[in-house]
Amino acid sequence: MRPFTYSRADGVEAAVRAGGGPGAAFVAGGTNLLDLMKADALRPAHLVDISRLPLDRIEETADGGLRLGALARNADTAYDPRVRSRYPMLSKAILAGASAQLRNMATNGGNLMQRTRCYYFYDRATPCNKREPGAGCSAIGGVNRIHAILGASDHCIAVHPSDLCVALAALAATVRVAGPQGERAIPFADVHRLPGDTPQVETTLREGELITAIDLPPQGFADHSTYLKVRDRASYAFALVSVAAALDIADGTVREARLALGGVAHKPWRDSEAEALLAGGPATPERFAAAARMVLRGAKGHQHNAFKIGLAERAIVRALAEAAGVEHP
Ligand code: SF4
Repeated sequence: MRPFTYSRADGVEAAVRAGGGPGAAFVAGGTNLLDLMKADALRPAHLVDISRLPLDRIEETADGGLRLGALARNADTAYDPRVRSRYPMLSKAILAGASAQLRNMATNGGNLMQRTRCYYFYDRATPCNKREPGAGCSAIGGVNRIHAILGASDHCIAVHPSDLCVALAALAATVRVAGPQGERAIPFADVHRLPGDTPQVETTLREGELITAIDLPPQGFADHSTYLKVRDRASYAFALVSVAAALDIADGTVREARLALGGVAHKPWRDSEAEALLAGGPATPERFAAAARMVLRGAKGHQHNAFKIGLAERAIVRALAEAAGVEHP
């Protein structure tokens, strides 16, 4: 690990001021950043400790939703009675991630900002455009079993590793940030980027901006939703494919559908056309299969991960059936 300086922020404004400095990085739970520093994949010159800021509450919002503090721990969020009863898909997604110890330490804001688990990103002996722009991508033509099948580029085929974010994408959450230019709210779909030719830029957050909260809208799809995670081990493993599926069903007709995938792209993959296809008709396995085919219409596999395309199609059908409470073949 390289030498770095450290300061502890005593307020959001002070944190933003310190976080805008050259080579600065925010640290709270540290469950990903410190690993990256130990691997020498990231070399921040200055760490701004934000862990004592008063951003750890979970509160009601005026519109009937919930505000999750950026520094609320993943475990506290998943077990909050309001999250469990009104947003069960979110609670399930959080508990599918990492381990109990990591969930006790990791924060909601940090979960959004965590980096890919592409092996080459952590290995300084191999070229990686994300770590060193212009160096090349070792995963293309290398070992790419865990990599992207949607939205990738010739510069990077990494995937976003979060489970929490997949559920937040399906719920259409809003991310609140504070920065040198003041506060702003970002629709969740706009927070993370596809790699394009700048895979080192993973989010739309500006220099020095700090996530302060995540707002959940009132509609939590509590009656018909689920999070399905397919992985190599039953616990403590990242998703090969995951699906957040939510349906609003009345009199046997789907009024609204939400579908987001994890483990398949550089950001949580939400497909509004597939969601529209599901709306206005009955909740049947045939219609779920049509939506799944639509989600995967542009999918492209690489040497070791083409299996994810069929896996994702089947996972979508299963997740939607589970959310709807219907049998599936
Ligand atoms: Fe780096 Fe992205 Fe290629 Fe992995 S997939 S080696 S993170 S450029």
